[in-house]
Amino acid sequence: MGIEEKLPSGFLLDTVENAAGWARKSSVFPATFGLACCAIEMMTTGAGRYDLARFGMEVFRASPRQADLMIVAGRVSQKMAPVLRQIYDQMPNPKWVISMGVCASSGGMFNNYAIVQGVDHIVPVDIYLPGCPPRPEMLMDAILKLHEKIRKEPLGVNRERAAAEAEEAALKA
Ligand code: SF4
Repeated sequence: MGIEEKLPSGFLLDTVENAAGWARKSSVFPATFGLACCAIEMMTTGAGRYDLARFGMEVFRASPRQADLMIVAGRVSQKMAPVLRQIYDQMPNPKWVISMGVCASSGGMFNNYAIVQGVDHIVPVDIYLPGCPPRPEMLMDAILKLHEKIRKEPLGVNRERAAAEAEEAALKA
């Protein structure tokens, strides 16, 4: 007989890792950080009609020290790139990045010297969201997919090191 069957009802057994994953995914705080037109849709997602609060994350933090999600909402200019990286560096670990819209993901229609051709040149990206602009429903779908990723993430993983190693392996292949 397993221990679950010996316990009276009302007890819940789980691993610390699963509990931490659940707590993390249920309390993601995005940084207040909009770059262009996509940011309008991001703000709409946080407002009453779409109600991001349902997922424990309506609080956009003005300080990167209090944020663990960066939603890159819009094209990234070359001048903005170091600022974006600095904000990312100021966010405590573990932290995640959603690249919102075609401009953030690849430069989009701005194929020119002034715009970074994909924010993954500057910070590691967890979710790429297509569209110009993606609608609030699409951003919410991306956020829910990120929640699943966060929930399953093992504790103690150095995500930046893992991303650097994956990049190195891809270059060697
Ligand atoms: Fe603006 Fe479209 Fe680019 Fe978003 S993807 S920043 S809406 S041009």
